[in-house]
Amino acid sequence: MENSKPTPLVNQPKIVVLRWGHRPQRDVRLTTHVALTARALGASGFILSDIQDQHIEETVNKISKRWGGDFRFEMGTPWKKAIYDWRSSGGIVVHLTVYGENLQASDVLAKIKALNRDVMLLVGSQKVPGEFYSEEVSDFNVAVGNQPHSECSALAIFLDRYFEGKELAKSFEKAKIEIVPKERGKEIKTHVFSK
Ligand code: SAM
Repeated sequence: MENSKPTPLVNQPKIVVLRWGHRPQRDVRLTTHVALTARALGASGFILSDIQDQHIEETVNKISKRWGGDFRFEMGTPWKKAIYDWRSSGGIVVHLTVYGENLQASDVLAKIKALNRDVMLLVGSQKVPGEFYSEEVSDFNVAVGNQPHSECSALAIFLDRYFEGKELAKSFEKAKIEIVPKERGKEIKTHVFSK
């Protein structure tokens, strides 16, 4: 069965993901997956804090260029500055952590959504600084279940709950390449845009 035209996520506050603690070499693949998950599941941008990694930037920007949308990649910004700037411009910060309020068993998501403000999602890698749990940094500490797993899965589930699944049918503007969903086989459409 072929899908009808996907709907964009309209009138939604924007979500940006901040990835803290990236370790060069060791985390390249996982950090790339965190960024691509953010993009594919409705976030507007990704900040790789405190460190530069040209390889990840290239991969993410290349995918955004081919597959469309307006996903912003930023790197090297010190985490304190990124959070300070975000909060100063009216956004809230949600720290995804195994120790937080349970996404399913509490009303934390309802509280976040009721604020109707742009959200910065903070995800770690190695053990995060203790300050992350404080109200100076995070407005909410949210656990995607109180069992340890991964920044990638925590992010994916949070975004899906936040956007209520609509992100899965989101269209990406100016995509050069687009998949035609099918029961079987593969079909891809290509689009050419004049500059
Ligand atoms: N051992 C580290 C610590 O104590 O902070 C956490 C390592 S975990 C592999 C990396 C990141 O995945 C965490 O910083 C958090 O953002 C995310 N994460 C893992 N499990 C999670 C959960 N159940 N709920 C929310 N986020 C989770």
